[in-house]
Amino acid sequence: MKANPKQWARLVGGLLLLVGIVLVGVRLYKVWWQPSHYSQLKPLLAPYPKKQGAIVLTLDDGYVRNWFDNRNWLDSLGLKTTIYLTEADPLSITDWQLVDSLRAAGVEIEAHGARHLNAPEYLEDHDTTTWRAQELDPHLSSLASHGIKPLSFAWPYGAEAPELIRMLGRHFGLIRGCCHPKRVKAGRFEDALYQYDGARSVNALCLDNDLFDSSRVKQALAQAAVEQSAVVLYGHELVNDGQVRTKTNKATLACLARWQRYYALQSLQIRDLVDDTKMP
Ligand SMILES: [Zn+2]
Repeated sequence: MKANPKQWARLVGGLLLLVGIVLVGVRLYKVWWQPSHYSQLKPLLAPYPKKQGAIVLTLDDGYVRNWFDNRNWLDSLGLKTTIYLTEADPLSITDWQLVDSLRAAGVEIEAHGARHLNAPEYLEDHDTTTWRAQELDPHLSSLASHGIKPLSFAWPYGAEAPELIRMLGRHFGLIRGCCHPKRVKAGRFEDALYQYDGARSVNALCLDNDLFDSSRVKQALAQAAVEQSAVVLYGHELVNDGQVRTKTNKATLACLARWQRYYALQSLQIRDLVDDTKMP
């Protein structure tokens, strides 16, 4: 039996209504849905799709004078560096000039927060909008005024807040957490190895005197060489002393450079792991 024009009109109208309902549903889902883990963010393809064993040395906070003074020494070790900069202790004009010089010399600058807030603690008494106004927006403006558009954010204190993941996912290609070798449970250790799969997070191993675990780090480097993944490591101010807490002994970095050569690992930067042109 053939449908008459009225029935056709009703059918088309019904289909359009259905499509409309689906579109509105998808839109509402996108607005209200909150990811609880980075794995729920859309993966980004890395600009280095070819997997390779590598280390990524990152240095955190605002020790720009210290890093500037050590730049030639780091170069002599063959280690590229990424700095996760915070402005918790305001940076002077001179500090910013040093940041510019480091950038000109190939050091990468990434975001570590305007105030270096412990996000989960801060969110106990504040909402995410306030966190953004205090920690993120002024930091992005300040970096932008120096021509820096960060690709990545490192949680201050390594303290992750799931409520912020969606917001951070809109601004950054990669979020760096921490993997404390002496506290990590078995299994979490694998999270320190980046697989070049566009994943939006990576856990870094600590190089500071109080948390550096040489056997764990060496094991990670050996594993990276075999499976061609990247190990991200983080330190802070560089010192010639193996005893001071939360500082990184230069001897540790010299040791890292030896292991890097031994395992034939590349020295990469965070920008080699993420391609923010693929951002949603
Ligand atoms: Zn920090």
